[in-house]
Amino acid sequence: MYNYIVDKGRERDRLMGIVENQKKYINIEKSDIMKKELIFLGPPACGKGTQTSKLADYLGFPHVDTGSLLRAEIAKETPNGIIAKSFIDKGNLVPVDLVGSIIKDRLSEMDCNEGYILDGYPRSVEQADMLEQINSDINGDIKSDFRAIYFDLNQDILISRIVNRRSCPICGEIYNLKFKPTKEEGICDKCGGHLIQRKDDNEETAKARFETYFHETEPLIDYYKSRGVLRTINAEGSIDEVWERLLEVIND
Ligand SMILES: [Zn+2]
Repeated sequence: MYNYIVDKGRERDRLMGIVENQKKYINIEKSDIMKKELIFLGPPACGKGTQTSKLADYLGFPHVDTGSLLRAEIAKETPNGIIAKSFIDKGNLVPVDLVGSIIKDRLSEMDCNEGYILDGYPRSVEQADMLEQINSDINGDIKSDFRAIYFDLNQDILISRIVNRRSCPICGEIYNLKFKPTKEEGICDKCGGHLIQRKDDNEETAKARFETYFHETEPLIDYYKSRGVLRTINAEGSIDEVWERLLEVIND
């Protein structure tokens, strides 16, 4: 009986040793993986939001959405949030430096050590320069793998996505008459609410948004292309098809 317990103890120690070794092995592997800095470019309604949230879950990286980040700073009344609010209240844009400072604080947090997914930033070459500076300030000597992933999609398809978009006013679920129809026409699958079309989901507003978008983003595409970090994916097709293409450019 005694020997049995001793043997059990040895067996446990042996197993614990394996676990410890595996832990070490995992740590070594993790530190060998280069930090991934992923930013996303793409027109409104290109499916970028859906794909980036999915990717954040898949990679275990934080999904840093600039709009939500700014709103959260304001809600929490942080020093930066208070200053940002004073600009918004006067109907002015939040200054580039202030947005940069908020982004830098967020990207400096521990959960971004292995990588991050940044959505909605940068929107101009000036901001892209700032992001480059932010990354180099945070990383110091640590090398990182920076990629700008561009969701490329024909404008006619985008407009058709927007004008066919319907949303549930109760639970917020988004549908599309062509690409994601409800089981019963006009009724939310999730909660039974009556779907509505948002006022700005019309062709005229959509076209105006694209003009703003192309004006802002085209210089960024050239900017990242010239640095050799641009990856373009065809954003046409189902969520699963685009996801497969996204994984290819992440893993290449
Ligand atoms: Zn609903």
